[in-house]
Amino acid sequence: MEGSRLTKAVQREIEAAVGGACSAAREDRICYSFDATDIRGLPDIVVWPESRDHVVAVAKIASRAHLPLVPRGAGTGYTGGSIPICGGIALSFEKMKRVIDVDVAARVAVVEPGVVNEDLRNAVERVGLMYPPDPASLKVSTIGGNVAEGAAGPRTVLYGTTGDYVVGLELVTVDGSVARTGYLASGSGTAWDPGPLIVGSEGTLAVVTRVALRLTDVPEATRTYWAEFDSLENAAAAVAVITADGVPVSVLEIIDRDTLACATEYVRGRAPDTRSEGALLIEVEGISSDLTGMWGRLKPLLERSGATLVRAASDERERDEIWEIRRSISASLARLATGKINEDIAVPRSRIPAFIQEMRCISREVDLPILAFGHAGDGNLHVNIMLDRADSLQVARARRAVSMLFRVALESDGTLSGEHGIGITKAEHLAEELDEAALRITAAVKRALDPSGLLNPDKILTDRPNPWWSDPAVSAIV
Ligand SMILES: Cc1cc2nc3c(=O)[nH]c(=O)nc-3n(C[C@H](O)[C@H](O)[C@H](O)COP(=O)(O)OP(=O)(O)OC[C@H]3O[C@@H](n4cnc5c(N)ncnc54)[C@H](O)[C@@H]3O)c2cc1C
Repeated sequence: MEGSRLTKAVQREIEAAVGGACSAAREDRICYSFDATDIRGLPDIVVWPESRDHVVAVAKIASRAHLPLVPRGAGTGYTGGSIPICGGIALSFEKMKRVIDVDVAARVAVVEPGVVNEDLRNAVERVGLMYPPDPASLKVSTIGGNVAEGAAGPRTVLYGTTGDYVVGLELVTVDGSVARTGYLASGSGTAWDPGPLIVGSEGTLAVVTRVALRLTDVPEATRTYWAEFDSLENAAAAVAVITADGVPVSVLEIIDRDTLACATEYVRGRAPDTRSEGALLIEVEGISSDLTGMWGRLKPLLERSGATLVRAASDERERDEIWEIRRSISASLARLATGKINEDIAVPRSRIPAFIQEMRCISREVDLPILAFGHAGDGNLHVNIMLDRADSLQVARARRAVSMLFRVALESDGTLSGEHGIGITKAEHLAEELDEAALRITAAVKRALDPSGLLNPDKILTDRPNPWWSDPAVSAIV
């Protein structure tokens, strides 16, 4: 899509529609021009709706004026989903962040899309319930962004992803119509539910203005374990052994040597005490009596898989120490190089060891470090290619590495994205995963809901190459 143009008249219309809760000032537009990728796209105006009616009014104006409309949560996305790459309106939900209702009997919370994941968790915990989806970005990312990306997290192995908890949506389509699905639609029960179509659609089909989420019981007890291995492949093989044995893990995270060293130094200011090639962070949760004896079951499995160190966290402090390392990984890796490409491929658990071997070969071939960690329990690996962003030869080699990693993931019956979505960065590879008919269906759905292509344009289905690969100046703000 070509760049947009906001006229003074349209700007005044928007201002009137949202009671002035918008800004076309350059400093505000810059704040909404990026996410966790290094890609930039400047909106023409930022709007902070305070209600569904504001969203409806802005959508109508965008349609009439032919302006791109780009929904935005906290901007923590890893694939460029909330970047206004074609300009237009950045629709930021930070003022729509109410937990509207927690129905304890129905075990459902109804929230506005701008509520931060952790704030929802805390609100439902106060009444003895739990909202399980826990992306590592949970302190910042919003429920709207989680729904739009179908976010997953460390506990997906036991609880599933965000989509498994969405029981109702309120949506605003690009022409300003309001649709309610599932729990939020009166009298709906047996009708076909269009809600799942919206989950994971990355803000390209409709704007989410309200979400109903299923809640669960808070587990009575949690046990946390840590294991280290003399090879990453052994750590990966242990993942398959543990799940094949049927141990009901709620967390099964893998961390490679360099990632562990980097995160430990970041958190503790010194190198790790041991020098392992790979580590697993494991949790089980449930009724206390059921967990008794779990360590007795898990420990021999780990030792038989070649673990060189195994330990169970003895109290909450030790548990927090382990999690602090895990939660600091992304921030710590960012210090290692000026460029970090984080791809969230996923493969069947049993294929992780072979994938890691291929990853090492690719790393040698392109002569760039590739660090790996992630939610191994559901096959989701974050592979991080580290490079000097200013070195065009390294950028070209990193691009080749990404293509090779995707090919290996797909050949392993895996996927390009376990949780981060397609957005801008993976769009050029989508046809490698989806067959022609699937792409046609996806395009038809997009056309049906957004015939003018104004809602979050040039995402997922686009010919626009990933701008990250271009000269850095191209993606910088001009
Ligand atoms: C350190 C770090 C750790 C992360 N860990 C994880 C992880 O463990 N698991 C995981 O899945 N992801 C993870 N992510 C990625 C990211 O946090 C998720 O994709 C998250 O769901 C994005 O939420 P957000 O509020 O930041 O949305 P944004 O980045 O602002 O937007 C993401 C997408 O959602 C759309 N969107 C936002 N709000 C709406 C709305 N109201 N209606 C329609 N569309 C909307 C946007 O248009 C965009 O396409 C991580 C990111 C970082 C930086």
